[in-house]
Amino acid sequence: MMKSEQSEVRRLVVLGTGGTIAGRAASAGDNLGYTAGEVGVADLLAGIGAPSGVTLVAEQVAQLDSKDMSFDVWHQLAQRCMHWSNVPDVIGIVITHGTDTLEETAFFLHSVLPAEKPVALTCAMRPASALAPDGPQNVRDAIAVAATAGARGVTVVCAGTIHSAIDVQKVHTYRLDAFASGDAGPLGYVEEGAVRRLRDWPGALDANAGTAGLDAAIKLKVISTDVEWPRVEIIMSHAGATGAVIDALMAHGAEDAAGPVRGLILAATGNGTLHHAIEAAAARAHAAGIEIRRATRCVNGRILPRGDDTWPDAGGLSPVKARIALMLELMLASPPVSA
Ligand code: ASP
Repeated sequence: MMKSEQSEVRRLVVLGTGGTIAGRAASAGDNLGYTAGEVGVADLLAGIGAPSGVTLVAEQVAQLDSKDMSFDVWHQLAQRCMHWSNVPDVIGIVITHGTDTLEETAFFLHSVLPAEKPVALTCAMRPASALAPDGPQNVRDAIAVAATAGARGVTVVCAGTIHSAIDVQKVHTYRLDAFASGDAGPLGYVEEGAVRRLRDWPGALDANAGTAGLDAAIKLKVISTDVEWPRVEIIMSHAGATGAVIDALMAHGAEDAAGPVRGLILAATGNGTLHHAIEAAAARAHAAGIEIRRATRCVNGRILPRGDDTWPDAGGLSPVKARIALMLELMLASPPVSA
């Protein structure tokens, strides 16, 4: 009967954004000299079977090297995820993406999307034209994750490992297994199409600095309107540091096309400590109305607060994720206007 046939249709949407996974080199033996973002997402799915009872839908959202990721693409991606999540027969979404800024896109989407339907980002370290590309298996694994009953939230699937968007970081420049989840460890593994989960899916219950308190209406506005992204810069504390970059941003930031700086993430040493020159320049910026957060440069661990901390810390968020959290927090302070 027509009605029951329709109710059995399940679709899984694969959104393409480019990256090495869609890269092409002149020769199959070349894993480095390729151009990212050349092969269309529909072609990446050729020969990749869908789980039984599931139809794959391919949609090209962007075609770029993710080192050049922009707010505009994030905005489009969030809109397409939101659109497809609201379609009843769509069970999940896979996003093909470059590895370079994968963790930032994943964290942004985690911060603004409702967690009900799974969004699994995937990637490759070798181009599609390689003799032994890793992309096809990663796509198959991501499809398996997004099609898993009960899956929710934003994950990254690479080299058979499932990471939560909150914890994942690219940690290797070359190896196929280029991502890690630090102290939290992976969320699970994909083994021959079956998901073996070690902990719960990422969801609203995962407390993370900055974005956990974002209210649903603001998230929706961030997705649905043409928002102004507050400018937040990352400043690294290191041996021999000066406050010159902060002072220059304060003096000339308003003249830049990116607009005046509204926040600074101080990529601090160890447990959130700062070079005294950075500390002094940050204090001058704060006095001028700039929001300051500290995030650790360390790959593992989180900043443990001390009673005498001058500025709030970003918990376990890396500097790039703390930046996204602060941008969203600043949007919350002055919400985007309605479309
Ligand atoms: N530069 C590429 C990108 O991020 C690297 C990769 O995908 O591995 O798009």
